[in-house]
Amino acid sequence: MKKLFLAGAAFLALTSLAFADDAALEAKARAIQSRIVTIDTHTDIPTFFATDRYDPGKLNGPPALVDIPRMKSGGLDAVFFIVYVDQTKRDAAGYAEAASEAFAKFAAIHRMTDEQYAKDIGLALTSADIRRIHAEGKRVALIGIENGYAIGRHPELLDIYYGLGARYFGLVHNGHNDIADSAQPQSDLGDKPNDKGGEHGGLSEYGREIVARCNDLGIMVDVSHSAKSTTLDAIAASRVPIIASHSAVYALNPHPRNMSDEEMKALAAKGGVIQIVAFDEYLQPMPKEKKAARGRLAKSLGFTSLDAFFAASPEAKEKFAQGVAEIDKKWPRANVALLADHIDYAVKLIGIDHVGIASDFQGGGGIAGWSNAGETFNVTKELVKRGYTEAEIGKLWGGNLMRVMDAVAAGRKP
Ligand SMILES: [Zn+2]
Repeated sequence: MKKLFLAGAAFLALTSLAFADDAALEAKARAIQSRIVTIDTHTDIPTFFATDRYDPGKLNGPPALVDIPRMKSGGLDAVFFIVYVDQTKRDAAGYAEAASEAFAKFAAIHRMTDEQYAKDIGLALTSADIRRIHAEGKRVALIGIENGYAIGRHPELLDIYYGLGARYFGLVHNGHNDIADSAQPQSDLGDKPNDKGGEHGGLSEYGREIVARCNDLGIMVDVSHSAKSTTLDAIAASRVPIIASHSAVYALNPHPRNMSDEEMKALAAKGGVIQIVAFDEYLQPMPKEKKAARGRLAKSLGFTSLDAFFAASPEAKEKFAQGVAEIDKKWPRANVALLADHIDYAVKLIGIDHVGIASDFQGGGGIAGWSNAGETFNVTKELVKRGYTEAEIGKLWGGNLMRVMDAVAAGRKP
């Protein structure tokens, strides 16, 4: 009896110690998060973002994962909202459609920052803007472009997009374009493989012109979704540091979207940053059955695009959420600890000055523990738990990205 009592007391003492430890960790992480600027470099939006169909000033239900209330509650200060364009045929009609999708998304972001919620969230064009708007107690919006297909064969569109506030330019998405080879060629668009034997074997001549124009304008070149050959070409061609806005580590999960050690080292040698992404399939190998089940679920509900997904009926959205929960139960989703493993690996390989964080929310991103903007604090807590200092966490959560923004702005040749 006495033994049992002692064991019980020891157990209680241990658990209360664990609770005390957790409370101390939580308090430390909260204090750190309140003093730094947290930037998520990749959140997708539908074209009708900032309308009553997706009102960023309100708390939204799924599939919306980001809004101003959840940025506040999660301690997420700044978000790059993404002007992503879907790629179809590379002809005049396709380019026109892509540009119109891009303009619709620029307009949506400006509706939020210039009209509807100017009091709550401001558009930043420079790192100084980020710090100023943050100091005013507001959230910060930035704009990144995903897929060079958005300019087609019209480089002058890049100047216009820069004028509309774009501060990074993702060279490619899924499928090769006129600028470069993609990490994931699309056979249904007639793509050849990539890299050696690919369409361009990296950057095309036109792609080199575009990288130079990005440098002249002061817009960051983004190599997420690029083939390895494209990434290495872009790093070599750029006069200033470049970024990977949402990628993970190939050595930990050999997915074509992830960055090899060679690419990460070259990126860092140029002063750039890889924003490690909270994307299940990039953080851990995805079983074929899981991928197929997710595909079937989306197809059965007609969710063929981000717009279709957001425009669906509440019933369809609910069905989707239930379906995803069932799939995740069977094949657990990556979690914050695994995200931190990728961060740790990158930090060990290329140093604390060259690593950052991205969600890819609403573009397939979201993991257990960071499944929407309201859970952002969990990432900070995990980093504190792993022994990162406040200065290091500040670099990971935005300091490094702002350094690259500054270097790119300083390289402008207007
Ligand atoms: Zn992406």
